[in-house]
Amino acid sequence: MTKNTRLTTTAGAPVPDNQNAVTAGPRGPLLLQDYQLIEKLAHQNRERIPERVVHAKGWGAYGTLTITNDIAKYTRADIFSEVGKQTDMIARFSTVAGELGAADQERDVRGFALKFYTDEGNWDLVGNNTPVFFLRDPYKFPDFIHTQKRHPRTNLRSPTAMWDYWSLSPESLHQVTILMSDRGIPRSPMHMNGYGSHTYSLWNRDGERFWVKFHFKTMQGHEFYTNGEAAEMIGHSREGFQESLFSAIERRNFPKWRMCIQVIEEEEAENFPFNPFDLTKVWPHGKHPLIEVGIMELNRNVDNYFAEIEQVAFSPSNIVPGVSFSPDKVLQSRIFSYADAHRYRLGTHYEALPVNRPRCPVNHYHKDGLMNFFGQTTGAVDAFYEPNSFQGPVEVKDATEPPLRISADVDRYDHRQGNDDYTQPRALHDLMTEEARGRLYYNTAQSMQGVPDNIIERALVHYDKIRVEYGNGIRLALAEIASTR
Ligand code: NDP
Repeated sequence: MTKNTRLTTTAGAPVPDNQNAVTAGPRGPLLLQDYQLIEKLAHQNRERIPERVVHAKGWGAYGTLTITNDIAKYTRADIFSEVGKQTDMIARFSTVAGELGAADQERDVRGFALKFYTDEGNWDLVGNNTPVFFLRDPYKFPDFIHTQKRHPRTNLRSPTAMWDYWSLSPESLHQVTILMSDRGIPRSPMHMNGYGSHTYSLWNRDGERFWVKFHFKTMQGHEFYTNGEAAEMIGHSREGFQESLFSAIERRNFPKWRMCIQVIEEEEAENFPFNPFDLTKVWPHGKHPLIEVGIMELNRNVDNYFAEIEQVAFSPSNIVPGVSFSPDKVLQSRIFSYADAHRYRLGTHYEALPVNRPRCPVNHYHKDGLMNFFGQTTGAVDAFYEPNSFQGPVEVKDATEPPLRISADVDRYDHRQGNDDYTQPRALHDLMTEEARGRLYYNTAQSMQGVPDNIIERALVHYDKIRVEYGNGIRLALAEIASTR
């Protein structure tokens, strides 16, 4: 039989009694000197940290990315350096709107966030299970999220707010079409695709830049719940995603995704038929075929959910040599806001937490700060500033990315001007089977319940522009739902 370890205080001293408070007589009162009791209660008060404002409810696991195809002509990134190379990673999937205790099977976009622990630093690809998003200008993000959260007075989710916003922002309807389609409620994180969503860039050893989109295609197949099935599932368990992902990995039934890219030459962006950096649009596969790059496999559950999933911190700002940003305005705003969210939730040194810590050497001159638990990070005690004469870390010129060629006037450009918000949702609508379209119309109509007529009418004008059948399909579904009330 293994011997129990000793119970200690956080300062390491043995705890003689973990059952009985120190009191003046058997009936109390307490004594302040029972510090271990005070410590225990104080710790409990601090067990919660702010939940993420978006993507609060999540599920994740560790895994590997194995490279299957040589793309060195596009990128010098170490992670893609040779076929067969394996890089450790962690994934966190999530819903967007629900709070930490929300049900897993809600109709919502799913976060699909990946951290690759590469030999040249952590690369985070913080995407979704959809290739587009509701907006193309970051000014709209906080307002959009307010519509997904609770009404300030009722403290309830508000379909009126959602449809008011969407009907006034037709660029959102591509994403809304995906949300209301079968893929709006996947059966598990394993049964959905992931997308980097934004356009990023790759750059090679010759200093050439390429624009790129990242795709992760589920190898488990797409599976979904209808609204009715989801309601039933939630009645059984609100934690279906956690249960299915965790148990699949425990059973060694490791989920896999095919990592693919779409690539265009840097100059091609100028003559693209639309803005290739617009987050509400995809690059059609017919013109920009997918190139397989590798296989991502999740194969290890975390040992401590809080330490490794609640504290895992993904940020689009984490890029590595050979991978970089694009001018996408929403990506640019996320470079700031994600890292800022982590500093707020987890503290200045969140990158040093075990789950976030790079697996390669980390040498920097940031100093001190709240909860600095790692001490000197320069490898030399006298090297605490730069430049110095004490063998402190020096810059790596070889990691310089090629210049981002942009020539434009600084101004505020109306993102609604000259944009076609209807062609791509139409293409999606048209590729669905008749049954899938029926569910799309019904799910959309159901989500409109309780929304004032004038707002519904405003939305239907846009749906008619996508496809008259789409608008009419929703009208019919609305009438059908009304007749059953
Ligand atoms: P393709 O026929 O080549 O591809 C269609 C894509 O749609 C596939 O990637 C498929 O994913 C995906 N898809 C199928 N059903 C749904 C759904 N309900 N929700 C979201 N995605 C779905 O067409 P195009 O490339 O010309 O694109 C046509 C439309 O497909 C686009 O306007 C866009 O709405 C959608 N789409 C396009 C993507 C792209 O990057 N080009 C990516 C995802 C969607 P899968 O292969 O896994 O079944």
